[in-house]
Amino acid sequence: MSKLVTDVICPFCGTLCDDLEVEVSDDGKQILEVRNACAIGATKFLHSQASDRIIRPRMKQDDGTWKDISYAEAAKYTAKILCEAKKPLMYGWSSTSCEAQATGHMIAEQVGGIVDNTATVCHGPSLIAVHDVGIPSCTLGEVKNRADRIVFWGCNPAHAHPRHMSRYSIFPRGYFTGKGSKSRKIIVVDPRPTDTASLADYHIQIEQGRDYELLDALRVAFKNGPLPDVVAGVPKDKIYEVARLLKSGRFVTIFFGMGVTHSLGKNHNIDEAIAVTRDLNEYTKASIIPMRGHYNVTGSGQVLGWQFGFPFCVDLSRGFARYNPGETSSNDLLLRNEVDACFVLGSDPGSHFPNKSVQEIYKLPSVCIDPHITPTAAVSKCHVPVAFVGVEVGGSCYRMDNVPIESRKVVDPPAGMLTDDEFLKLVLAEVMTIKGAA
Ligand code: SF4
Repeated sequence: MSKLVTDVICPFCGTLCDDLEVEVSDDGKQILEVRNACAIGATKFLHSQASDRIIRPRMKQDDGTWKDISYAEAAKYTAKILCEAKKPLMYGWSSTSCEAQATGHMIAEQVGGIVDNTATVCHGPSLIAVHDVGIPSCTLGEVKNRADRIVFWGCNPAHAHPRHMSRYSIFPRGYFTGKGSKSRKIIVVDPRPTDTASLADYHIQIEQGRDYELLDALRVAFKNGPLPDVVAGVPKDKIYEVARLLKSGRFVTIFFGMGVTHSLGKNHNIDEAIAVTRDLNEYTKASIIPMRGHYNVTGSGQVLGWQFGFPFCVDLSRGFARYNPGETSSNDLLLRNEVDACFVLGSDPGSHFPNKSVQEIYKLPSVCIDPHITPTAAVSKCHVPVAFVGVEVGGSCYRMDNVPIESRKVVDPPAGMLTDDEFLKLVLAEVMTIKGAA
């Protein structure tokens, strides 16, 4: 016997697909089949059932082996290293619920920590650009129903957000886009011939790192201004052609990824991409959306914004919130040896940070809260496995277009396993005891 759980949210990428169906055993313990998800999303659900999963917190011993400890002991250790540190780094937050993020931020306030999320190594420049010039954006639902010109700039959703194209941007039949992909013209700007580029009507093979120049050239082309023969490796005739194509659309949406946020120019590239969108609104309707990676990195920015006024790189070490990316960002702090404890939840800097930062994490008192065995868990002193948000516990998440969606519990976590919010509440209680505020 089995039962079907419908309208399940996929807790993997920022597309946050909300139409999954998961067949579970009658006792609610076993996932039998995942329908509608892409291969990455389905694997996340099925992998949560792995037989070699770590189900108890563990502490690294002097000889490098691990010893199982209780959640209470792990909470005590976590509270101790955070309270003893002058400037603890509390990094990650992008693969957990908004509720757990809010609890974690209460701990950070008590211990005077730095709260930073994965935007620091992905869409941080986009957030900085939004502070500078604002953002004309829309929801993915509007894209599906209205957009007839789609630009993918410096991103490859065929691999990173596999169902984005079928649910929202290329193939779906919407209210004003009834012929699906035939209703839309697709433009991909990427130095490489990617799988997304193979689906495009126009692949603009830009020179690596020349995004600012091409964006600027498009703004000139919108006004039929003069251009050099070639800009960023693209012949001017092609630039004028793409400019005409965009102006002739009824609704343009530009999706952009780390190919723009982390190439030469960084946040200034995004300033310029937003300026292109703003200019297009003189001729038609246009919007721009960052392709956010982790399923709730957008939520982390939202919750930090409500609580402290800034979306990442929040420094609470002086008793009030400061924000200065470049100074208060995780890698800068780690590379300057400025933090004296490291707490990671819902992210894997061991895989994504520069080697020198990871070496610094290895030297520090550290805790990694993650259901998986990750490179970060391997270099941390304490590893606390928790239930998978969106699989074994529900919680609020924000899609890449800032739409909040409630994720669902599908199966029970292993017996005795805490959720990250429950574990953080234990840590908060310990912190309050140490601070004498309980
Ligand atoms: S596109 Fe993203 S959210 Fe949708 S099923 Fe795949 S991994 Fe999950």
